[in-house]
Amino acid sequence: MRQGRIPQEKIDEILEMVDIVEIVGAHVVLKKAGGSYTGLCPFHDEKTPSFHVSPQKRIFKCFGCGVGGNAIRFKMRLENKGFPQVVRELADRTGVVLDGLDRTEIGLLYKLHEVAARFFERKLAHSEEAQQYLKSRGLSERMIKAYNLGYAPDSWDGLLNEIKKEIGFVEPEVLEKSGLVSSNERGKIYDRFRDRVIFPIHDLHQRVIAFGGRVLTDAKPKYLNSPDTPLFDKGAVLYNLERAKVSKEVLVVEGYMDVLSLNSNGYPNAVAPLGTGFTHNHVSLLEKYFEKVVLLFDGDEAGSRATLRALERFIDSSLVVRALRLPDGLDPQDYLEQFGASSLRELVENAPVAIRFFCDDVLRRYPLDERRTKKQAYVTLRDFFQNLNQVLLVGDDGMNEPELIHYLSTAFAVEESIIRKEFFLNYQGNRAALPGVGVLKSSNEMDALEAKLLEVMVLAARSKDYRSEFFQCFSRHHIQGSCAKELLGFLEDGEEANLDQWLHDAGEELQEALSSLSWGDKIEQNKSLDDYKVEMKELKIKILQSVLLSITKDLSNPALEAEQRNHLEVERMRVISERNELLSS
Ligand SMILES: [Zn+2]
Repeated sequence: MRQGRIPQEKIDEILEMVDIVEIVGAHVVLKKAGGSYTGLCPFHDEKTPSFHVSPQKRIFKCFGCGVGGNAIRFKMRLENKGFPQVVRELADRTGVVLDGLDRTEIGLLYKLHEVAARFFERKLAHSEEAQQYLKSRGLSERMIKAYNLGYAPDSWDGLLNEIKKEIGFVEPEVLEKSGLVSSNERGKIYDRFRDRVIFPIHDLHQRVIAFGGRVLTDAKPKYLNSPDTPLFDKGAVLYNLERAKVSKEVLVVEGYMDVLSLNSNGYPNAVAPLGTGFTHNHVSLLEKYFEKVVLLFDGDEAGSRATLRALERFIDSSLVVRALRLPDGLDPQDYLEQFGASSLRELVENAPVAIRFFCDDVLRRYPLDERRTKKQAYVTLRDFFQNLNQVLLVGDDGMNEPELIHYLSTAFAVEESIIRKEFFLNYQGNRAALPGVGVLKSSNEMDALEAKLLEVMVLAARSKDYRSEFFQCFSRHHIQGSCAKELLGFLEDGEEANLDQWLHDAGEELQEALSSLSWGDKIEQNKSLDDYKVEMKELKIKILQSVLLSITKDLSNPALEAEQRNHLEVERMRVISERNELLSS
């Protein structure tokens, strides 16, 4: 870039494009509070958050130390950089061109999508058939405009000509990268979307990054999306997230038509994956913006299977997840048409927690009125619970263990004591992560984690290497339980600490715990340093998971005061990011 004064309108444009929540969020754990975000100020030392970010005003402000300003100011201060440097960095990031027309590839890709979106939108006005189709799906003029729906004409080069007219010559390779065109074996390029209703897909900055197209006839494929491009990673984008993210609860549906019809009926907070299954990236995205999720897939077999697959993805998440099976094979739109919005609202509000959804699904697939299928249902659920390590329950949203036992005992007409013995036998000892959602942290689970922690700490005493690995992995705030905390004290100050010495010095409870460890040969003296590190990492993830669950549970207490809630939510985000970092390392 040429040196020199950067015009004010370029700076304004950058500030317009950049997401201050994202910029600040890279350094500060932020949590949503109404229309703004709060966190612990990075510029002064504080325990309760007085640092605020307003996405609407595009500024941050600390009411503790007084620092405030826009995204540029934030980066200058925090990263200790000069104004021109920060502006250049943000210009690159947002695709704002500081001098001349942006011929960089990314800049062009955005521009191509902008041109295409306008073109499709305009063409909709000329297609009676496409308008008719959208109306037949219950979409009002207002919704069509709000979502910038469009129509790709039945032509091989309609969009190509428009691009030529609006932008001029664009390298064929760039056009192909945009996903807006396809090419034949001879390398000739042509419009990818033809004779389809078009749904633009936006990123979180409301920029168009891809399109989905649906046929008006019975042609195949029914839905066609942009391929993955430098702007669009299917596995990491959710349709409508840019609008839904202002809520705390989100409905996850199968496709964009569901999103639109839900929005038409008073649910602006629905999102859908785009032609892929549900990925871990999707879960992380949802975790970033929401506390609760309701899966609302089609009420047919495929929908149920998709729900179960999606639920699996939530195993490690901190979200409260519930799932709904619509009756009679209906999809959300059919349901709305037949029973209306208030009926759906009731269903959504009473949607079962994930674990209950799973049980119901098994009982539905294996009817209980037949001996053979009843046995299959029994065995399937028994195996499921035997392998399950904890059951999730958050506040009023979940089912606790007695409730589950009661539910299963009623379903199978078997005594509760038998269910407890056959289903939940393992349940006390072996507890790790559990499918989904709403797992209740029991004291047993905590005891199991603490016992494991003690084991790891005893090993840490064996040599300097093990000890330093231990302290690299764990900090004081990971150490849960009074025994573990006491042992940590020994470990911290004893260079030559050993089990015998500890057994001598420890308090009664810790003595007991340590002796049962050595009594049960729990201390594997030959463990290699590498195995030890792996074991510590796994344990740490479980500890964070358990901390997260207890925070989530605390948060579900309606009597919580605002300040406590803020504090817990900040803590929750911190733990989530620490855990996610571990999971991805
Ligand atoms: Zn401050």
